[in-house]
Amino acid sequence: MAKDKGGTQLYCERCQQSSPCRRIRDHEWNRMREDGKSEIFGSCYSGRHPEIHYHRRPRQCLRCGHRFVTVELAEEYLLELNRYRSYFEEIGTLVDRLRHLLRSAETSGGRKR
Ligand SMILES: [Zn+2]
Repeated sequence: MAKDKGGTQLYCERCQQSSPCRRIRDHEWNRMREDGKSEIFGSCYSGRHPEIHYHRRPRQCLRCGHRFVTVELAEEYLLELNRYRSYFEEIGTLVDRLRHLLRSAETSGGRKR
């Protein structure tokens, strides 16, 4: 595998670095699936949000052999995802504070009885 050359430089989660990756043919990816189901690649859109169009490609890292799927989509959706993640982090912090306050209130209430 490491002797293979070419491919697009992509981040491989297993290698934890940018590595040359090849595009796997759709039928090759689907043939290697253990559940016998076929995945759709190429131009796609989100079922719940049909305005979100993207392009799916099955890939294989030429350094370690890890197989994964990449998606190409308009950058504005990545920025939107980053915003939502930040919102969730803020909400999580607020929920933690609220739980702490509730526990304190319960503890204080219990002492008065
Ligand atoms: Zn890899």
